[in-house]
Amino acid sequence: MQSAEVLQKELQCSKCGGQCTYQPAQQCLVCESCGTPVPLETDADEAASAEFPYDPNAVEADPKTVDASTVHHCETCGGDVVFVGRALSERCAYCDGPVVLREGDAAFQTMALIPFRVPQGDAQDYTEAWVKDRWAAPNDLSAIVAKGRVAGIYVPFWTFDSTEAIEYWASYRVRRGKRMVTRRTTGSMSTQFNDLLVPASPHVTPLIRDGILHDFDPRRLRPFRAGYIAGFAAEQHHQTVEDGLWSNKDDKDLLIRNRIKTQVGKSGVHNIFYDTKTTGIHYRRILLPVWIMHYEYQGKAKKVVVCGIDGRAYGERPFSTWKLGGLSALVSSVTIAIGVAWGAGGWF
Ligand SMILES: [Zn+2]
Ligand SMILES: [Zn+2]
Repeated sequence: MQSAEVLQKELQCSKCGGQCTYQPAQQCLVCESCGTPVPLETDADEAASAEFPYDPNAVEADPKTVDASTVHHCETCGGDVVFVGRALSERCAYCDGPVVLREGDAAFQTMALIPFRVPQGDAQDYTEAWVKDRWAAPNDLSAIVAKGRVAGIYVPFWTFDSTEAIEYWASYRVRRGKRMVTRRTTGSMSTQFNDLLVPASPHVTPLIRDGILHDFDPRRLRPFRAGYIAGFAAEQHHQTVEDGLWSNKDDKDLLIRNRIKTQVGKSGVHNIFYDTKTTGIHYRRILLPVWIMHYEYQGKAKKVVVCGIDGRAYGERPFSTWKLGGLSALVSSVTIAIGVAWGAGGWF
């Protein structure tokens, strides 16, 4: 990030000297005093989706830089979140815990981000609509969620590309007359991964990842500029590329196994072993926008996440035991009715 002075100048309105913040509805900076819009487009926008090669055998010359922004450190979940300009919240966006202020956050350079497109008011509405639409939701849930407030945060992600030269061994089942028999097979294949989206922080939970996963389009990336996060929280990148690849290994393993199953093309493929030679690793360090709402229901902390790109809502919710009870009563009475009908059939 830029130095404090450069940043301050960039966020100051040229007409009245007021403070500018990023406005998702207009997708530009807007002066809070006089409303003057300041566009953030640059000639480099086209290049923002560029990917960077990574050679696992080369020493990573990738220094962290310390910036002058204010850091909110959460004592509950350990999250470090930076604010550009005025900090809007005294609570942690990830877990709603109290935060303490710290100086400077040593972090890796973020290459690009997808700016917020969904304004706060819409995110609030989507959250409430999501809760209202839940099946068997307790009656008082809507009122409780309506009192909560969404917090906007840019969360760190990786995208990874790679080419895999795979050798595999697997078993499958075939029918021989009346019984199924197991056969062994082996083969080789080449497969590619493109833009695997991987959380770059332990605070980016599966809930947050799933909320944003479907809306990722690299063409929406913009070069990192502090202006895009003015008025929002952001967690910076702290993982090395090696850390990122490591945290993706289980997901990648699952994807490779699925592709091997497809390649074998038989039923009941199991006992898969494989060896892969990975080349052509390319990565991006990016930030993606999410709105997070924390609420408490009967003493339990829950959250709803709204993707800041397209407004898709995902969340955690309580069930009404009363409504579930009603449902299981309904199910049993249907079962009884069917039982009686069968029984009735049997009498004739
Ligand atoms: Zn102004
Ligand atoms: Zn926290």
